[in-house]
Amino acid sequence: MATSDHDYYELLGVSRDADEQEIKKAFRRLARRLHPDVSDEPDAEVRFREISEAYEALSNPETRQLYDRYGHAGLRSGGFTPRHFNLGDIGDLFSAFFGEDLFGGMRGAAARGADVAAQIEIELADAARGSKERVTVEVAVTCRTCKGDGVQPGTNVSTCPRCGGSGRLQQVARSVFGEFISTTACPQCGGSGRLVEHPCETCNGAGRTLEERALDVEIPAGIHDGQRIRLSGEGHAGALGARSGDVYVLVRVRPDERFVREGNDIFSQVDLTIVQAAVGASLQVETLDGEVDLEFQPGTQPGEVRVLRGRGMPVLQGFGRGDHRVLVNVTVPRRLTDEQRKLLREFERLSDAETYAPHEGFLGKLKSAFR
Ligand SMILES: [Zn+2]
Ligand SMILES: [Zn+2]
Repeated sequence: MATSDHDYYELLGVSRDADEQEIKKAFRRLARRLHPDVSDEPDAEVRFREISEAYEALSNPETRQLYDRYGHAGLRSGGFTPRHFNLGDIGDLFSAFFGEDLFGGMRGAAARGADVAAQIEIELADAARGSKERVTVEVAVTCRTCKGDGVQPGTNVSTCPRCGGSGRLQQVARSVFGEFISTTACPQCGGSGRLVEHPCETCNGAGRTLEERALDVEIPAGIHDGQRIRLSGEGHAGALGARSGDVYVLVRVRPDERFVREGNDIFSQVDLTIVQAAVGASLQVETLDGEVDLEFQPGTQPGEVRVLRGRGMPVLQGFGRGDHRVLVNVTVPRRLTDEQRKLLREFERLSDAETYAPHEGFLGKLKSAFR
């Protein structure tokens, strides 16, 4: 049963009297755009199936006539069943049908070397400044003995009898696009077109060997925990000279017990004693750039926040830096000597409501001016 209720002509964007060539062209254009492997459009898969169904119905004169006369209902009663094909096969079908790659050069990437994942841990301070790190990865490299062809030097290679050296076998296949000749890799020689009598002893014929490699990684200032850095072409070697894969380095930024990072801002806490908070103090506060002197006014309250503009993390691949916010904490003594206790009691005796009166802000001053 047809899965789409949309008008087939509308789906393909062609007029009702479009000829075979126009329909084919329209389908090709849409298929290129909507294939789920290449399209960012959220409903690409559904739409891709719809245009395939529309193309299948309209490319066959019999089903097209049925559709023109009686619409979807006509097709259903006429026994039309769109093929549900595996989207993974569509690239092959497409190239066979149109004689070209659906995705441009992408299919050539099949023999490209695989990517390698690596991980490094850095300090927050390194993330703030940016740094150069070294990471060790084990990658497949082209075998030095056989230069990647997998043949022991000086031994014979014969042409594959099954495919005659082409590495490919052709067969007739049926698909949504009709009948066509499909080409597959020859199973006897694995697509190489040749039979190797003596595989290279160094790499057992694989053409590649494993090698440990130390790579330098440039960590950009402002990097966030969990971001990845790609080292292009440093991954596994490709088959027979194809492009190497990439190395993806996952960067973990170790938490720094002095700071909490939130985006590009840094938060920290400063402890004032009750006396420092009451009479004022000058304290050194740790920042990403080292210690900074901060003045605290007499009567500084717990919970106050001092903002150090531009002292936070650098903006990754941008300009400027976030802020550093210092939260004031006032520590209350836990163990007092007899003398200290006596002094504090004496202090309390000399205190009254005025001692703890809130600081008069602008509004307060205004009010007292009218009093
Ligand atoms: Zn080798
Ligand atoms: Zn073969």
